[in-house]
Amino acid sequence: MLGDHEPLTISPVLSNIQKTLAAPISCEGEGVHNGKSVRLTINPAPANYGILFERTDITDKNKIIPALWNGVKVTPLCTQILNSDGIEVRTIEHLMAALFASGVDNAHITIGSAEVPIMDGSALPFLHLIASVGIKDCLINNMGAPREFIKILKPVEAKHGDAYARLVPCATPRFSVTVAYPQHNVGEQSSSFDFEDGHFIHDVASARTFGFKTDLEYLHAKGLALGGNFSNAILINEQGKIMNPGGYRSPNELARHKLLDAVGDVALAGGIILGHMESSRSGHTLNNALLRALFADPSAYVKVERSESVSFMAKAEQTTLSA
Ligand SMILES: [Zn+2]
Repeated sequence: MLGDHEPLTISPVLSNIQKTLAAPISCEGEGVHNGKSVRLTINPAPANYGILFERTDITDKNKIIPALWNGVKVTPLCTQILNSDGIEVRTIEHLMAALFASGVDNAHITIGSAEVPIMDGSALPFLHLIASVGIKDCLINNMGAPREFIKILKPVEAKHGDAYARLVPCATPRFSVTVAYPQHNVGEQSSSFDFEDGHFIHDVASARTFGFKTDLEYLHAKGLALGGNFSNAILINEQGKIMNPGGYRSPNELARHKLLDAVGDVALAGGIILGHMESSRSGHTLNNALLRALFADPSAYVKVERSESVSFMAKAEQTTLSA
């Protein structure tokens, strides 16, 4: 099914100039948790704007929600951000990963309800949307606006039981993820990605979200996963086997999806992290705890306007997807 897509070109995160979309893009779909159909539009925004969500269905409160780490409400199943009036938007992580991987620093996103559409459960539909209009430099006084990088100076870690997420110094944004679900008969899987090497579209973005059949009744009782189905999520049975008719898109799709989630969660840092994020059995809660630990320790990072990476060429990734 992936082979039907047009070739995609995305720009890398390793440019010194801030970017935004060349034109607005829109999509419609259902929230995987609330099951509600919603329209989402991503609009270009100027330099230093950041990424902001606007809830168009809210009229009596502050409806702007900045996509930043310090607005994250702890949620195990998705990443949810709140503003000071308690207005929320959730399941932002796949969209945030797509924006990050495309190099988009600034965007104004309007949405008609509290949950980003799940699309096919991966970041691929968002990347196709972004690629359909392209991205452009953000200018200040006709000059490219410099981008801010967050350079990791020493290891920082967040732990919970045998799960951990840590950031260690690295010249480029790099991610390594290990997952294991012995309680669901799913063995260990790993996935790694370095943004200098490219292939994000093929290696990471296409990996879909997943859940376990044994959890479904509990989730539904809590009003979660109401929009989940085989077209937008992987479902795994009691024997640890995939139930979707088409099977996996890659043998380690679960680890790749967790890596995608990690990219989306770290994209809330407010700048591009030059560091290696390593995690094992982590999730949205621990990923956010890692950013909180980082920003609580001013000796662990420095903000710089230019990467010192040796090869700092903007390397376009062009991939013709094949199944
Ligand atoms: Zn996810």
